[in-house]
This record gives sequence, C-alpha cells and structure tokens, in this order.
Amino acid sequence: MKYKPYIWLVVVFTSALSVVIPGRTQQNNSSNILFQTSTINALMAGVYDGDTNFKELKAHGNFGLGTLNNLDGEMIGLDGKFYQIKSNGIAYPISDVMKTPFAAVTFFQTDKLINLVGKVNYEQMQLFLDRQLPSKNYPYAIRIQGTFPYLKVRSVPKQTPPYRPLVEVVKNQSIFEFKNIKGTLIGFRTPSYMQGVNVTGYHLHFITENRKTGGHLLDGEFQNLQVEIDQISDVRVDLPKNYQFNQANLEGDKTSEVNKVEK
Ligand SMILES: [Zn+2]
Repeated sequence: MKYKPYIWLVVVFTSALSVVIPGRTQQNNSSNILFQTSTINALMAGVYDGDTNFKELKAHGNFGLGTLNNLDGEMIGLDGKFYQIKSNGIAYPISDVMKTPFAAVTFFQTDKLINLVGKVNYEQMQLFLDRQLPSKNYPYAIRIQGTFPYLKVRSVPKQTPPYRPLVEVVKNQSIFEFKNIKGTLIGFRTPSYMQGVNVTGYHLHFITENRKTGGHLLDGEFQNLQVEIDQISDVRVDLPKNYQFNQANLEGDKTSEVNKVEK
C-alpha cells in the first residue's frame, strides 16, 4: 500500500491554511442556490432525456455537473463554460441548444479557501473536507485546483432507447487515469436527507487545465491543492415535463445502486 504512515498528516491538516472570505452574508445572497434538473433516482431508473437546455441551465449557474441527453457523457461547468466529456475521453464545448436529463449548478462564490498540503487518497480527502465544512445540513459546492498526483475518472457511453438502468450502463463505462495532471475538480457535497434527489456525500467531476479531457471522479491522490468552498442555503429541483419522467418508477431506496454507480 502506498498510503502508509499518515499520522504526520493529521498535524499538517490541523495547520492547513483556512481563510474565511468576508463580506458574504448567507441570508440575503439570492444567487446562493443549488439548482438541479430532475433527480438522481430518475437518472438511475433510465430517464436519460430532459427538457432543460444549457441556455436555461446557465441562467441558474456558472458552475456544476451532470450529464447530457441520451446519457451522452459527463458534464462539467466552470467559470460559465460547460463541457461534455464523451466516452472517448474528449471534452467538447456544449452548445446552448443541447439538453440535460440531470444537472446540478450554482453561481460559485468562494466562502472559504483552504490549502490541502499533505498527500492523501480520495477517502482521506473526503475526511479532510468533512472537517472543513461547517455543517452536515447544507449542500456545499467545492472547487479544487492544482496539479493532482493521480486521478481516475470515467465517462459513460451514449444510449439509445429503450434505456437500460444506469447500474447496467456503467458496466460499459470508459475509465481514464492521469498522473501529475493539472486541472480542476468541481462538485458538491450534499446532505444525506437529499437521498433520492441528488448524490449524497461527495460528487466531483474533473477537467484538465487545457480543457481537453476529464470525467467523473472515481479515485485519486491529492496534494498541494487549493480548495474553495461555497455554502448553499437554497435548493431548487426542476422536474422534467416529459413522458419518460412521468412514467418512471421512482419508488424504493436506490442508495446502494447510487453508490455503485457514482462512488
Ligand atoms: Zn458524475
């Protein structure tokens, strides 16, 4: 195992630089909303077509993640630009007329800046973030930038109807690994009470600095990175107005399936 002696890291973490950005009040910041289209359980059930296009989505955020209609790859948005990472691993700019069956976006504003110093694996990075996030009960948008020692990401292949459940589709996912790769991870940690609506816990997508490739984060090593946190106090869920969503069976607890697909 590469991740042996981590006791010294605890010291590093407790001394991690943390800056709270002043001048931001949670109460009267109208842009501090997590806007999402559809629900994660609808995506799990194979509702791969939505009626929200990216022009509409951009009105609700300049930062976010999700997928595209026909489940055609992973979506990542940052600094107001949205990209589709297809199952060939290539990132393409998304046009305003393209649509999404599932997306979560916000207007990202940094509440807190942290430097992650010591090297950690993905699980340890999540514990590190857990210690930095003030409450379990708000969603947080997270942006992590720098050179990542190692990242393992995936993308999903475009589907044609009749759609199979996501747990079946990911058996054919493409996996990409990067070493010492410069780029940005963006995503969310959402509270456990949002189970069924969004991916609870951490959900992150990556794009390289040159915006040429990336994907949905599966695993990685993290060191010397800049972490920015944005606390969210409003959630808005926009449901698809189509036959697929209308007819989908969204009953029951799909937590173990979501964990299989997204973690
Ligand atoms: Zn994802």
